[in-house]
Amino acid sequence: MKHLYRKIPKIDELLVLDNVKYALDNYPREFVLEILRDILSMYREKIKEGNEIEISLNIISKVFDEELNKKGRFSLKKVVNATGVVIHTNLGRSKMCKEAIDHILEVANNYSNLEYDLNEGKRGSRYSHVEKIICEILGCEAALVVNNNASAIMIVLDTLCKNKEVIVSRGELVEIGGSFRIPEVMKFSGTILKEVGCTNRTHLFDYENEINENTVGFLKVHTSNYYMDGFVKQVNIEELRELKEKYDKIIIEDIGSGAIIDLSKYGIQTEKNLVQQSLKEGADIVTFSGDKMLGGPQAGIIVGKKELIEQIKKNHLLRALRIDKFTLAALEATFRCYLDEKYAVKNVPTLRMITYGIEELKDKCEKLLHKVQNISGFNITMEENVSIIGGGSMPKERLKTYVLDVKHNKLSSKDLEIKLRENKIPIIVRVEKNSIKLDIRTVEEEEFNDIYEALEKLRC
Ligand SMILES: *Cc1c(COP(=O)(O)O)cnc(C)c1O
Repeated sequence: MKHLYRKIPKIDELLVLDNVKYALDNYPREFVLEILRDILSMYREKIKEGNEIEISLNIISKVFDEELNKKGRFSLKKVVNATGVVIHTNLGRSKMCKEAIDHILEVANNYSNLEYDLNEGKRGSRYSHVEKIICEILGCEAALVVNNNASAIMIVLDTLCKNKEVIVSRGELVEIGGSFRIPEVMKFSGTILKEVGCTNRTHLFDYENEINENTVGFLKVHTSNYYMDGFVKQVNIEELRELKEKYDKIIIEDIGSGAIIDLSKYGIQTEKNLVQQSLKEGADIVTFSGDKMLGGPQAGIIVGKKELIEQIKKNHLLRALRIDKFTLAALEATFRCYLDEKYAVKNVPTLRMITYGIEELKDKCEKLLHKVQNISGFNITMEENVSIIGGGSMPKERLKTYVLDVKHNKLSSKDLEIKLRENKIPIIVRVEKNSIKLDIRTVEEEEFNDIYEALEKLRC
């Protein structure tokens, strides 16, 4: 066996291999060296175990390519979302529109006027880049953006409600997921929570009975991924407005997903309220997410009364929650799409996927079926099914869709799901009662090939 050890090359001999040289130019040196060391120690290990193995520069060069291919991949990477869930929090929520991507690239590639006022030639505000367009689209007095909706609520409460009382209906003390719970957020921000009403029913008088001089106002929370049916009642903003005016209080609403265009003309039963409607009906501050129904980047958008937003802008917490330049770039571009509603529906991926017509989905699904139906070892059929929107948006709404039902001759559905998930470009599917569905709603035509290749690898 000793002679085999001698055959193991020195690292220096490997560094002159063409593919290693190429890697050295394109990856950190230490990263490449680590791969080489791992390969060599793997050989030593094999020899130690008594294996009769072949060693040559040629073989090592091939092994190096394989290892680099594995290790050179990023941890955060593209997946194909075949679940049909449009706003899938685990899969990155919303895809960006092309306008946003282009704008991110430009800002990433260059210096920018992020905090520089080009008119005055001095320091400017990063928030100014989106405030005007948000106000224009939503018809509000002022706007501010932070990291996400959770931080939006946090800074709103911290600024306006600290050590004061805020009245919330017991029916709206919800947990959104990812451990965002309204009572805890309130506690954390030093707001005194006054819960009123019952889980299923809250009346206007419940709110009124709880008002005192330490009350700042009322917090309304969209229950997002949760709904109640039957003997239920919540007080809406219009009704609360009476109290607000009578007692000089404010209304804050966490509207969550925050639709800003009415999708009912596309056959989608939109949220109870659009952001604009909430403001019109009397909310003084509304917060919502950038990456849910809006279809933009992760962000928390705070809109409403100028006087209140100005106070929030002065809160030092803003520095900790501040939005970065890529997000700002994406937000500005996304909001600009909304200047024309039709344009937004066509070009913002989240809206486009939600509003697909059933015929369009059918055509797309047939195309995918055509591409994959002859891979041997599979039985693939097309069927009607339903998708959900996700992201806590309209949890009751089911959208008609088409899916491919995929069965494998040898693999169970569970194993097939795992194989697809472990693919180089992971294909994330829906598992339904022992069968696998690829929902066409969230799959782009450019991804058909990724799916084809993943299935083709499992041919038998
Ligand atoms: C999603 C959601 C949040 C959290 O928003 P993020 O942008 O994920 O921080 C808060 N409140 C409601 C009602 C939500 O639906």
